[in-house]
Amino acid sequence: MKIGFVGLGNMGGPMAANVAKAGHELMAYDADAARLAQFVEETGARAAESLEQLGSCEIVIAMLPTGPVVREVLLSAEQGGFTRNPHPELMVIDMSSSEPVGTRELGEQLARHGIRLVDAPVSGGMTRAADGTLAIMLGVDDEADAARVEPILLTMSTRIFRTGPLGSGHAMKALNNYVSAACFAATAEALVIGEQFGLDPSVIVDIMNVSTGKNFQTEVVMKSHVVERQFATGFKIGLLTKDIRIAADLAREMQIETPVLELIYSRWQTATEQLGADRDNSEAVLSWNRGREALSA
Ligand code: NAD
Repeated sequence: MKIGFVGLGNMGGPMAANVAKAGHELMAYDADAARLAQFVEETGARAAESLEQLGSCEIVIAMLPTGPVVREVLLSAEQGGFTRNPHPELMVIDMSSSEPVGTRELGEQLARHGIRLVDAPVSGGMTRAADGTLAIMLGVDDEADAARVEPILLTMSTRIFRTGPLGSGHAMKALNNYVSAACFAATAEALVIGEQFGLDPSVIVDIMNVSTGKNFQTEVVMKSHVVERQFATGFKIGLLTKDIRIAADLAREMQIETPVLELIYSRWQTATEQLGADRDNSEAVLSWNRGREALSA
């Protein structure tokens, strides 16, 4: 199949490489010309010269930073180039972590150009993106659309969950990342308190990992990236904070009071402001209450 892929960053790069490896004819696109050139050299994919050319593919996958960027690329960039002359059966798979309400609106806007949309955000980080073992949350309105995209998604994933109609994958993804960010916040505070009391952070994490406090953050992020000081998960603070905001917006939309979610969002916002949106999310520990002094020593 002729597949387009836009967004070749930390996640999109290895995901697109797996699509190409499965034997599909891949046309790649990224705003970063150097990144695009390197990807083309490494994988043998073809570089799209324009968004109009990308729209000539049967399927186009987006793995961009945010929903607004996805909408910009698909609807307005290059004077609406993507929608100018689309493949008659063009389907877009938005695998970015976008806003569910915006995704539904985008679905309606693309439908006016005869383009179909499904959302299929992922979880698993760069390691599982490279291994092709991501978890995928698929939001899709139509059975035929699901049948069409699932074989392509299986080149990047070993587990696809059908979450419901368009936008439901994006809602699920934001909720997952909120819970994950809350675990990080709780663990970061526990590390700071423990270290101040005289406990060794490395021992704290080892004990939690065989105790009831265990979670992804203690097992992977706190262990390798914080205690062992790698700070290289490949997931930017700004992107995680954006996901928590999506969950908070969703709660407001549902008219549900969520004080814990609001607090977690505000803490991650502070971390983003203090450290910068492009820093690795594991570095947020440095912004935690007294963490800068305690854990950066
Ligand atoms: P990234 O910042 O590493 O990559 C984004 C890519 O998009 C870059 O190559 C950038 O040049 C490109 N880009 C930006 N604007 C563009 C435009 N207008 N036109 C074309 N290309 C453009 O981000 P990432 O970590 O790969 O994340 C991508 C998405 O996946 C985000 O929504 C993120 O929240 C989500 N996500 C990330 C992870 C992770 O561990 N990094 C895990 C799951 C989901």
